[in-house]
Amino acid sequence: MKRIHWDEGLSIGDPVLDGEHRQFIVLLNRLIDLIDESPDAEQVHRILDELEQLAVEHSRHEEMLSLSSGAGAREEQRREHSDFRSAIIEARSQLRPDDLGSSLIDMTESLVKLLINHIIDQDLDLAPLLAERELNNHSLAEYLVVKFQKVSFVRGLEMLVVISLLPMLVFAGMIMVQSWRAAVDASDVTRLANFSQRVGGLAHELQKERGLSAGFLTSEDRAFRTALQLQRRHSDHELALFRSDLESRKLEGRLEQIGKLAAKVVVRLEALARYRNRIDRQQIAPRESFDGFTGLISELTGLTNQIAIFSRRQSAAELFQANALLIQYAELGGRERAVVSGAFGRGEFTRDEYRQLVSLTSEQGMLERQFHSFLSERQWLRWRAHYATEAVIAYKRLSDYALEAGGGDGKVAVDSFTWFKVATLRINLINAFQQQMLSQLLEEMKRQRSLATAVFMMTVFGGGAMVLLIGYVALQLARSIRLPILSLTEGMRALTAGDKSLRIPFAKRRDELGDMVLAYETFRRKLIRADMLSLGEQLGPLAVSRHVLALKRSTAEGEEYKRLASIDSLTGVINRREFMKRAKMEVARLLRHQGELSVMLLDVDYFKQVNDNYGHPAGDRVLKFVAQAIVSALREEDIMGRIGGEEFAVLLPATDQSSAGATAERVRTAIENLRIQVGEDEIKVTISIGLSEFAGGETSVEAAMLRADRALYRAKDEGRNRVCSQPAVAPATSA
Ligand code: GH3
Ligand code: MG
Ligand code: MG
Repeated sequence: MKRIHWDEGLSIGDPVLDGEHRQFIVLLNRLIDLIDESPDAEQVHRILDELEQLAVEHSRHEEMLSLSSGAGAREEQRREHSDFRSAIIEARSQLRPDDLGSSLIDMTESLVKLLINHIIDQDLDLAPLLAERELNNHSLAEYLVVKFQKVSFVRGLEMLVVISLLPMLVFAGMIMVQSWRAAVDASDVTRLANFSQRVGGLAHELQKERGLSAGFLTSEDRAFRTALQLQRRHSDHELALFRSDLESRKLEGRLEQIGKLAAKVVVRLEALARYRNRIDRQQIAPRESFDGFTGLISELTGLTNQIAIFSRRQSAAELFQANALLIQYAELGGRERAVVSGAFGRGEFTRDEYRQLVSLTSEQGMLERQFHSFLSERQWLRWRAHYATEAVIAYKRLSDYALEAGGGDGKVAVDSFTWFKVATLRINLINAFQQQMLSQLLEEMKRQRSLATAVFMMTVFGGGAMVLLIGYVALQLARSIRLPILSLTEGMRALTAGDKSLRIPFAKRRDELGDMVLAYETFRRKLIRADMLSLGEQLGPLAVSRHVLALKRSTAEGEEYKRLASIDSLTGVINRREFMKRAKMEVARLLRHQGELSVMLLDVDYFKQVNDNYGHPAGDRVLKFVAQAIVSALREEDIMGRIGGEEFAVLLPATDQSSAGATAERVRTAIENLRIQVGEDEIKVTISIGLSEFAGGETSVEAAMLRADRALYRAKDEGRNRVCSQPAVAPATSA
């Protein structure tokens, strides 16, 4: 039986347990050695005692180790380990004193299996735990590695994709919210600006109606009545638009507050109808009418102020402020126009008119300064360019004159119509600028709104497309990693089950997985090669042991020592002496029963070189395997013996020369295909065969063997690795 050797692959990384495993192997090898000698029961039991002792120690050490490495399912492990110990004890019962040789082989065989299975199936499971124990105590990175082992690989990849997409999604969400807000803001500002325009327009119409009402009350001119009727229609039209703006619920949501204020203003504007009634019947003093209109107008300017205050949070707050100021500015201009018109008409200022003029002038100056502070430099320049006209210069001159004269004796001598014209031109300028500013604002808001909408849409669709694309690519990447791993696992499982047919299609990949697949493929091919070529290995040393045992059994009882003396200890086949003895027996039988008998002599080619190149022990190993291979290529009834160093002889009963030739060829091919593993090396040898037939009339085998020897000599001479035969010469002819 072949000795077993320690393989580094069995190491679990713990010096004590590994040492004990080696010790087990040493003890088992001692049993194996006993098989080939003549075993003695006492020796066998001594070794078994040692084995049992070692198994007890070993179980204890294993238990300690699994405790300290925190192995799960400890109970089960402990049971497995003590199973190993009791199995050793049990093995002993297989020994039968009446058939020690055979039962020793059986027992040793099962002990070897037991040990190998024990190490591979139980103790090797401890190795990763030991390695993990070392990892556990170190850095955060290693800790995470251990933790992540518990997450499935595919799940891990998915997590990675989500984690890398998350910031992008958050970022896109922020942009979307921001652009949405900008769009809503722009839309609010637009509605406010539209409404401001409406308020300014209504105030402007009421200013005109105020002037015409004053004219109607103080002058006999019929033209005033017609103009007033027309103006009232304009005012009513603006008022209706103002109302419908409110009713069409344009001021809701965030603008609701302005809507409520505006609704109150609408209620106050109902006073307009009462004033008109009294004006038509001339039942109101001009001054009261003027103040009434002024009050209504200031409701409207107040509303524009509210809009300005409300819009403080908006980007256009300053423009709204400037807008409100301009409306007030125009209104003060209107009141100034009325006061000064009256005085110029009469040719003098009353004290009250003068006081009004002074306060209106200073209020206008204040508004101008405020207005300046709300405008950007560019807008201010535009305003200046817009305002610097002939009419304004003329207005200034007359206004200064009025102040001066009013502060003096009160007498004035200026055509009231001229004043009215320039003052009106100035007010129109102011109103025009105010409307222009709002239009610009509306334009700007329209631009901002479409920009914000575009950004929003781009983020939704662009971001969505990007997330889909990245998700898709990442998923495919994960798949391309997962598939080879799954295939490899399947392939490895198949190899374990003995199926070497599974090829894995990813070997062309140029990455680590490709290397892995390639390594698998190399391993698979090596396994197939080993299987195909190690014919001798497969039959194994045990087969030879059994062959020997069979031989021993076939020999008469009580000839134990004789039998031992007939076996060649290196190869396990019979030796030269036994071969010659059995040849003689075969010839005797042949002579009694008639029939055919062939003889084959075999000699290994260039065997000296094997010894020289690999050493004598390697040569021995080659001889053993060659002997096994020859035996396996023969029939049961053929007799094979080692008759020299690397020479063998075979007797082929009931075989003529031509079928012996076929057998010889089979043997030759078997040797040619044999690969004998010696350490790292694989040794190949060939064999030359000489063949001859036992001729009728011969009474011993010697002559046939001599002919076979000659044929062998010829085979060597003709280049080796071949079969040559030497036919028998009929005794009659030679005589
Ligand atoms: P060829 O037969 O092809 O002419 O060449 P060869 O090298 O085989 O030549 P030869 O038959 O002369 O050599 C036989 C060698 O076999 C000589 C001897 O050292 C070696 N030998 C004989 N018996 C044993 C053995 O039991 N073990 C080992 N290792 N070598 C042996
Ligand atoms: Mg030789
Ligand atoms: Mg020789």
